[in-house]
Amino acid sequence: MKPRVGISRCLLGDDVRYDGTNKRSRAVIALGDDVEWVPVCPEVEVGMGVPREPIQLVARTSRIQSADERVRLQGVHSGEDWTTRMRYWARDRAEDLSAQGISGFVLKARSPSCGPSGVLVHHRDREATPTGRGLFAEALAFAMPGLPTIVEEALEDSGARDEFMRRVRDFADRTSPRR
Ligand code: SF4
Repeated sequence: MKPRVGISRCLLGDDVRYDGTNKRSRAVIALGDDVEWVPVCPEVEVGMGVPREPIQLVARTSRIQSADERVRLQGVHSGEDWTTRMRYWARDRAEDLSAQGISGFVLKARSPSCGPSGVLVHHRDREATPTGRGLFAEALAFAMPGLPTIVEEALEDSGARDEFMRRVRDFADRTSPRR
């Protein structure tokens, strides 16, 4: 049985990005023979639609955790605050994915929703820093500690890809309710 692996949906070639495009990844497509993909697009599923205003992480001490930062998630132009909606949706979706028995996740690098690290955080008084984590990736890490994750760019490296798949199979053997 192939392990179930979550995937940021734009990497499969679906036109779900804010501007109606995708980020199809050849390395992701090549992995498709070895896994059962579980596609997720947090921004579409939370109700932002396509096309939509791009969003960003903004440092704000009173808001929610993003790696070592406290942030809010807001529209780049309008400032519309998506923090609470994304927080609760991501928490529920991460729990749902855990119940579905996923054993890994391929995340879109640098996305304010999907990026697992190095996501830009915008500050009022200084330049943006690559110190954040996408809010869906944050919820996933909280709901499924130890879940193997990788960004699509790292899959280009055969050693990193093989190591990711080894960790996915180990995780599936230890945790999947389907086995
Ligand atoms: S990076 Fe994540 S939220 Fe953005 S389009 Fe891709 S799947 Fe959707």
